[in-house]
Amino acid sequence: MTTPLLGQMMDTPLNVSSLLAHAARHFGNTEIVSRRLEGDMHRYTYRDCEKRAKQLAQALIALGVQPGERIATLAWCGYRHLEAYYGTTGFGSVCHTINPRLFPEQIAYIVNHADDSYVLFDISFAELVDTLAPQCPKVRGWIALTDDAHLPDMQTPVMSYETLLAAQGGVYEWPLIDERAASYLCYTSGTTGNPKGALYSHRTTVLHAYGASLPDAMSLSARDSVLPVVPMFHVNAWGIPHAAPLTGAKLVFPGKDLDGKSLYELMEAERVTYSAGVPTVWLGLLTYMKQAGVRFSSLNRTVIGGSACPPAMLRTFQDDYGVEVIHAWGMTEMSPLGTLAKLTWEQSQRSPDEQRELREKQGHVIYGVDMKIVDPDGNELPWDGVAFGDLHVRGHWVINRYFRNEDSPLVDGWFPTGDVATIDPDSFLHITDRSKDVIKSGGEWISSIDIENVAIAHPAVAEAACIACAHPKWTERPLLVVVKRKGIDVTRDELIAFYQGKVAKWWIPDDVVFVDELPHTATGKLQKLKLREIFRDHVLPSALEGAA
Ligand code: AMP
Repeated sequence: MTTPLLGQMMDTPLNVSSLLAHAARHFGNTEIVSRRLEGDMHRYTYRDCEKRAKQLAQALIALGVQPGERIATLAWCGYRHLEAYYGTTGFGSVCHTINPRLFPEQIAYIVNHADDSYVLFDISFAELVDTLAPQCPKVRGWIALTDDAHLPDMQTPVMSYETLLAAQGGVYEWPLIDERAASYLCYTSGTTGNPKGALYSHRTTVLHAYGASLPDAMSLSARDSVLPVVPMFHVNAWGIPHAAPLTGAKLVFPGKDLDGKSLYELMEAERVTYSAGVPTVWLGLLTYMKQAGVRFSSLNRTVIGGSACPPAMLRTFQDDYGVEVIHAWGMTEMSPLGTLAKLTWEQSQRSPDEQRELREKQGHVIYGVDMKIVDPDGNELPWDGVAFGDLHVRGHWVINRYFRNEDSPLVDGWFPTGDVATIDPDSFLHITDRSKDVIKSGGEWISSIDIENVAIAHPAVAEAACIACAHPKWTERPLLVVVKRKGIDVTRDELIAFYQGKVAKWWIPDDVVFVDELPHTATGKLQKLKLREIFRDHVLPSALEGAA
C-alpha cells in the first residue's frame, strides 16, 4: 500500500489538561462553587482552579510520582476533587477515582490491584482510611483533602493537601502527553466477583467530553450552572468535570449532602439550570419538594441514568415542574455515555403521548458509539422495537479489555454490555433488562424493568424490584418485592389488580412481598442477585396451585 497523503495540520494531542487550560484562559472568571465538608461554601474560578491543579502536579512530582503511576481519590463532588482530576492527569499520572461506598475489603482490593501510590481522601473518610491503610502497604502516602487546622485525629500518618500545595508556586507548563496514555481508572461497581478496572486514555476522555457536550447528548453550554449529583467517584461524574470546562459552564458541587432538602437549597441558591444523577437521588428531591410545596426557579434540564428512569418520575419532572428529563444509558466500560433520549425533528412532531414513550426509552447513540443487538448465536437482530437481544457496543470511548487482565471481553470486536434491549426503526434503544435479571416464563422473556415501572407508578409504592422466582410449570415467574411509602397502605391483591390493562396478562407478578428496604450496590443500583438469594426459597402461591 502506498503511504497516504498526510494532512498538514498542527499535531496537538488530545490532552485532559487542555480542557482546564481552555476554561482558565477563555472562561477564566466563571465560577466553581462547592459546599465544603468543613461546613462552609467555597467559591473560586476556573483560573484559580487551574493554578491550584498545577500546584498539585508540582507537589506530586516533588513527592516522586512518575507518569503512569496511579493516584487514587476517595472524595465527594468538590473543588479539591476537581483539582485532583487535573493535577494528576496533567503531568501524566493516572487519576483513580474510588467509590467509598464499597465495602472496605473491596476498596483495599482495588487499591492493591491498581497499585495506587498515593491516596487523596476527604476528611469524612478518615475512619475508612485507618481501616484501609494496614491492608494497603504499597501506598506511599495518604493525603487528607483539607488544611492543617482540619486534619482529623487518625492512626494513619497523613499529609494535609493544603500544606502540600502551599509549598508550590503553580508556575508550571502542562507537558504534552501522548494522547493514548492512560488518564483515569474507574472500577465497575461489581455486583458479582471482584471489581474490574476500566482504564481510559487522554484521547478517549477528551473525545467523550466533546461528545457529551453536543446538543443531542448532554447539551452543556456556557449559559449553564451545572450541579452534578452523580458523584465524581462514579465514572467521572458522567464526564461533567470535563464537559463543563470544555463548554465554559459554571460548576456547583454539592459535597456529601445529597438529601432532597440540601440539593434543592443549593440548586436555588446557585441558580442551577442543569443537573445529572441516578433515579434514587431524584426520588429524594421530588419527595422533599412535594412535602415542602416548593418549585424550581431555575432548573430546566436534568440527565437521569445509571438505572432506568421510572416513567412516573419523568412525568413528575416534566409535567409538574417543567424540567426536561434527558434519559441516558451508559456504563463504566464506555466512559460512560452511550445513548440519550433526545428526539429528532420528526419525532417531536408526534403526539405528546408518543413523544413521552420515546423519552422513556434510553434513546439514540452519540457519534463515537455504535450498537447492535444479537441473539444467543451472535446473529444481529432486526431494529423493529420487538426483537430482544444482547446489546453489544463499540466506539472511541469503549474499553477493549479490563486493567491488568489479558483476556479480551470482546466478541467479534464488540463489547457485550450484559444488557438486553430492543432497538426500534428510529434507532432508539430500549433497555429491557440485564441479561442476568431477565425473567424467563415458559421460554418467553418478561422485562423486570417494565414490571417495576408499573409498581412505582402506584402512589403507595416507594421502591420496587421484580425478580424471577422458581415455578414448576413456567420455570420462572415474576415476584414483586416492594417498599411501601410512609403513611400510605396497599395490599398484595390491590397491587396485583393495579397491573390489569397495564402489561400483558402473563407479565403480571404472581406474588408481592413487602419489605422495609431493598439491597443496593454502592452506586445505588438494585442488587438483584442478593434479592434472588433472599427469596430463593420463596414459594409462589401459583406454584402450589400448579402442584395441586
Ligand atoms: P455502571 O457501570 O455502574 O454505570 O453500570 C452500568 C449499567 O447500569 C448498565 O449496563 C445498565 O445495566 C445500567 N444502566 C445505566 N443506565 C441505564 C438506563 N438509563 N436504563 C437502564 N439501565 C441503565
